[in-house]
Order: sequence, then C-alpha cells, then structure tokens
Amino acid sequence: MKITRLEVFVLGDGPDIDPDKGGVEPLACIRIHCDDGATGLSEVFRVPPGVVQATVGGPDTHFGRLLLGQHITHPERLWQRMWDAFLHTNRRGWEIIILGAIDVALWDLYGKSLGRPVWELLGGVQRGAFQTPVGTKPVVTPYCTIVSDVWGGEQMFSQQVARAEKLAGLGYRAFKLEPMMSTPHDVVELARRFRKSLGRQPTLMIDVGYLFHDVPTAARVCQELESCDVYFFETPFPVDSPLPYAELASRTKIPLAMGEHGVTRWEFLDMMDRGRVSVVQPYMATCGGITEAKRIVELARMRGAVVCPGNWSTQILGAATVHLAAYSPITPFIEFAPAEVYESPLRQELQNAGFPVRDGVIDLPLSPGIGYDLPMEIIERYRLS
Ligand SMILES: [Mg+2]
Repeated sequence: MKITRLEVFVLGDGPDIDPDKGGVEPLACIRIHCDDGATGLSEVFRVPPGVVQATVGGPDTHFGRLLLGQHITHPERLWQRMWDAFLHTNRRGWEIIILGAIDVALWDLYGKSLGRPVWELLGGVQRGAFQTPVGTKPVVTPYCTIVSDVWGGEQMFSQQVARAEKLAGLGYRAFKLEPMMSTPHDVVELARRFRKSLGRQPTLMIDVGYLFHDVPTAARVCQELESCDVYFFETPFPVDSPLPYAELASRTKIPLAMGEHGVTRWEFLDMMDRGRVSVVQPYMATCGGITEAKRIVELARMRGAVVCPGNWSTQILGAATVHLAAYSPITPFIEFAPAEVYESPLRQELQNAGFPVRDGVIDLPLSPGIGYDLPMEIIERYRLS
C-alpha cells in the first residue's frame, strides 16, 4: 500500500452556531488515500484550517513531500520520518498537531492493511487481571464535559447541573463541570450543587480553565472542594510554568490535571516531573498522534500518574481516543463532548456515526483500523471548504 493523495476538507456548524456553546468550529479533516483504494481519516483540532490546507496536499507541500509515495508500514516509521525532518524547526505547535493528526490517519490505514482494530496493534488490552475487579469486561468509560451558556452565578449552576442530570438519566457515569471565569465561591458552589442533586455515585471532575494565578487562592478552593469528592482538578493555572502546579499538588489531596494542549512527550514529562501533575490529558492528534500518546502512557505509568485523554472536539477524534484507552492500563476515563446537551447538529451527526455509548460505557471496537466511517451526507451538508 502506497500513499497517493492527501486530502483536506473543512467541516463546521456554520456561523450561526457558537463553538463556545458546544457548536463545532471550522474543523480541518485529513483523509489519506492509498493506491489500493484504502483511506485513513483524522481531524485537526484548534489549528486554523487554512494552515492545514496550505501544508497538507500535493508534492510541494510541507507534509506532501514527506508522505506521498511512502508505503504503509508500522506508523512509527513515518512518525520518525516527519519528526526527523523537523529538526531545524521548533517541533511544537501547529506542525506537531498536524503530524499527530496524520499519525492517527496512518494508524487507521495500518489497521485496515492488517485487518485488525488499532487497539490490538497497540498491544491489546493491558489491564492486568490482578488490577481489575473480578469479572470486569474491558470497556472504555467516557466522562461528559459540561459547559454553560453563561459563566458564574445561578444560571451557570442551574444549567450545568441540569445538563448533568439529563446525561445521568441517559446512563453516563462521570461528569466534568466547567466553572470558568467564575469566582472561587462559585467554583465550590457548583460542585456542591452537583453532589446535592446527583448524589455520591457519579464521578465528578472540575475544570476551571486557567482561572488562577496565585497558589494560595487555588489551594483554598481545593480545600473546600475536598468534601465534594473531586476526581481531578483541571488547569488551575496558565500552563507556561509547571511550578505553581507542583506547589498546589503539595497542598491538596485532589489530583491535578493538565495537558489538553500539550504537544510531544517532552511537554508531558515536564508536567509530571516538574509540575507533579498526576492526571495528564493528551489529545490524540494534538500531543503528536497515537504513536506519541502511547509513549506518554508508558511515561505516566512508571510515575504513578493516569492518562485521561482530552477531546473537546468531535467523535472522529473520539474514535481514535477509544483505541488508546482500550490498550492503556492507566486510562479510567476519556473526555467526551456529549451532543445530547448541545445545540450542534454536526456534533450530533458525528456522534451518531461513532461508537455508541451504552449504559455509560463504550465497547471495544472490532472493525479494522480506527473503524470510524464518516458518512458522505455529513461531508456534503457541513462542508465549509
Ligand atoms: Mg479543559
């Protein structure tokens, strides 16, 4: 199998639907075509689509010259070929996110070439029998990320809690609330309202979206949150320096989480070793692909951290995330942006085309490759360019 074409198309909900309220912002998708007719699919979250269109394409483009004509072998080979070619660039940012998206599409093709699902090729299910409750079936558990149309105060409390209630009624088991741009009081109050309404059973995560600059305020909030049984506390500080994270980690029992925009294992090493973060959240494309995510799992495993992959994008990326989680011995949850509570027709249709969530869990996919079939009608209806 040889790569013959790199196709980029852009999907989105269009200008009338707000991405901050759950809509799908203009999203570049990559499809790699091979000479035997097989294709591999991926998406590129938070890279301006024009950048992807300019760098992924014919033989004169940045990625085209590295990939066109190449054989489909183990994806690590082409990952390394691209990485080596970037030695004299900064090897972070958009370049690596696009590399990561290409790597996901290559895993899709590699799995199809062997007729096996990607999680099997990553090493199969690696949760040991001694480390799972007796009789447990290997499944992947999504946690729902919940945002609101307004931030802070009563409207935020009522909308986020109502969304969690609705999703719990549909069988979802874990929820991440997002008290962004809110006061310390409102962060704690939202968690309390959640527990009051949904009880002790569901897993609760809190993401404050880089809300604080000082450690003492964040430490006080964490102390008050401890009685709400919070599974992790995400991005209390801007991520430029890991040191405030390390300081907060020494002052709270709640695990700290970061990594949604992290690229390469080197940034994740810094988060864990200097930032003492014990939950890392690589996106399958952003971090540098499934190839790099597997390396991050190995690094986290030897440090006693867990990997809860991030994905506030669509279920195209979500499908790739399921394969990593199926293999990973340290991935209790993956992030999931539930279409059931957001006004986004595209998000809903992409979720319908993905792996079903039944009773709050996703069964391990059995189709070759990633196994996400993007229906032609979706492309026709939501194509922006
Ligand atoms: Mg976040």
